[in-house]
Amino acid sequence: MRLNCPNELGIYNKKVYLEFPAHMFKENGGYYTEKRGCLVDPCMVNEIEFLWKKGIVTTGCCCGHGKTFAYIDVASYSDCLVMYQLKYESHINVSGKTSFFAKSKHENTKMVTGK
Ligand SMILES: [Zn+2]
Repeated sequence: MRLNCPNELGIYNKKVYLEFPAHMFKENGGYYTEKRGCLVDPCMVNEIEFLWKKGIVTTGCCCGHGKTFAYIDVASYSDCLVMYQLKYESHINVSGKTSFFAKSKHENTKMVTGK
């Protein structure tokens, strides 16, 4: 399926719904209690699924839509350590928390398989 990632902030209807894997839930040491999944920018899907396979608990991400940088937020200090092992660079976001620069680049179209 070919999904368009619009070149605008604040457009959510082109996002892809991903169901959380087990490690994302609080009962398994993760973060979420109620939410069962999240909406992800099309150009971030592959990277988020990769991080989930590595056991990282993500709490937010955005591709930047070509207007700003792409970022990924994670739940805990131990998640940060794994991100550094994976050669991610961090910055302090507007909320004063550690946030990571995503490796994905915004693309207006992106192949997404199996979704
Ligand atoms: Zn995008």
